[in-house]
Amino acid sequence: MSALEIHEVRKDFGNERVLKDVSLAIESGEFLILVGPSGCGKSTLMNAIAGLEPVTDGQIRIADRDVTWLTPAERDIAMVFQSYALYPSMTVRGNISFGLEMRKVPRAEREAAVERVADLLQITSLLDRKPSQLSGGQRQRVAMGRALAREPAVYLFDEPLSNLDAKLRVDMRTEIKKLHQRLGTTIVYVTHDQIEAMTLADRIAVMRDGHILQLGTPDEVYNDPVDIFVAGFMGSPS
Ligand code: ADP
Ligand code: MG
Repeated sequence: MSALEIHEVRKDFGNERVLKDVSLAIESGEFLILVGPSGCGKSTLMNAIAGLEPVTDGQIRIADRDVTWLTPAERDIAMVFQSYALYPSMTVRGNISFGLEMRKVPRAEREAAVERVADLLQITSLLDRKPSQLSGGQRQRVAMGRALAREPAVYLFDEPLSNLDAKLRVDMRTEIKKLHQRLGTTIVYVTHDQIEAMTLADRIAVMRDGHILQLGTPDEVYNDPVDIFVAGFMGSPS
């Protein structure tokens, strides 16, 4: 079964066609990495999947359900986007458990989930702080914790590690990989870091100018790029 199906999704902003009939099917348990140059439409596609922006045309299905016209909360997803802020009036603990509260998860389970992700992300000492009392990197980890506390059909990550320093980024990459292997979660993950793409992905989708140029395993995309653009972008041997 596909966890996520994108069928001929088009997105126009005024006269600009930012997504040009993008189609993509992601299997349950798959880790898909989306790469491409700045401005090619990666975040627009993620926003469309999340339901933050209505599509101009096409269809999006999550866990075999047409969600094209549903709100983000009605879709079975959790997301970490740079633009998707923490709730400023809540503590870190509140931010992480809020989504579970909304879904009527019992208190003991919520507390266990908070402990688990706080430990994973090394933010236990920050649980009683407000977002304004955190650094950018700490906020990013809390946003990650908020997503990981839940178990949705699909996780959406848009450059989730880009504000972290190099050491933490490598640690987090390892943790995300382990999490995926342990839980078999379905993940769509945008990065501009080729090493991140090569180490995390089951498959890589290379985007350019509003469409997907190539979709394949890291080995295929790296060693058998469809054109010179993909080769250059992936740093393939010539
Ligand atoms: P990426 O994430 O790959 O860097 P984006 O999806 O953010 O690219 O942007 C793709 C294109 O869509 C860019 O040309 C950008 O200017 C345009 N765009 C994105 N969001 C909006 C918006 N809300 N209104 C108008 N244009 C937008
Ligand atoms: Mg982007």
